[in-house]
Amino acid sequence: MKLIEIMEKAHIGRYAIGQFNISTDEQITAVIEAAKNLNSPVIIGTSEGERDFIGVDQAVALVKTWRDETGLPIILNADHCKDFNSAKEIIDAGYDSVHFDGSKLPFKENIEITKRVMEYAKSVNPSIIVEGELGYLPGGSDIHKEVKINIVDLTEPEQAKEFVKKTGVDSLAIAIGNIHGMKEGGADDPHLYLDRLEDIRRAIPGVFLVLHGGSGTPREDLQKAIKSGIVKININTEIRVAYKNALKEFLEQNLDEVKPYKILSPAMEAVKKVVEDKIKLFGSEGKA
Ligand SMILES: [Zn+2]
Repeated sequence: MKLIEIMEKAHIGRYAIGQFNISTDEQITAVIEAAKNLNSPVIIGTSEGERDFIGVDQAVALVKTWRDETGLPIILNADHCKDFNSAKEIIDAGYDSVHFDGSKLPFKENIEITKRVMEYAKSVNPSIIVEGELGYLPGGSDIHKEVKINIVDLTEPEQAKEFVKKTGVDSLAIAIGNIHGMKEGGADDPHLYLDRLEDIRRAIPGVFLVLHGGSGTPREDLQKAIKSGIVKININTEIRVAYKNALKEFLEQNLDEVKPYKILSPAMEAVKKVVEDKIKLFGSEGKA
């Protein structure tokens, strides 16, 4: 199956595919284990810092190995490329999907560079998936004390329509009250503006809608968002937190252990649990 067809299937079937961000080899293994257990398509995501750590070519090679071995639909996406050259590096390296984030640029400039990325990407690999971004998302992928959502930062349906028409992107990351990272102490924030999502859906019905900042968003909101057309949800912070907590707990209780494969096993198990939970929540179980 072509990678774009994996997204198309989710789009038509009204379920979402999780993008799970990783920065190490054993985290990839944990995500794949979850996908195998639940026979689900998955997207492996690497942000700039994450791919600097694991290596761009290494990430491509690892995912290819897993795809060949399992036969599962596994997509490797480069998260938040901030300029043309970083997108080009990813495309040249053989990533399956590239996210160009020009959301902080003026609208016209965002269109121009996204279009350039789109044209270059498709000239190198016609089946690559290109994701654009419109609207402002506060926060980074960690724990925040407080994050404010301003209505003016949400994606405007009319702008989205113009953006898609001029760039031709396959997917669009939108701002509908979602934030990157998680709020301290609470799992029932942020709240999504589902009416806005419906308006965006109507304005650009053929585009895959992407929700960044899925960590910590209320389960009900995520399920409603999927019903209203979100086909890809990015999860990063919840994975980081689960990994770190399991590692910390193991090391505290096993001060003399030195074998990396023993030390990292509980962390992998914790990541796998988060991913399995999301796969079930997003409805992609059994859809591989
Ligand atoms: Zn993001």
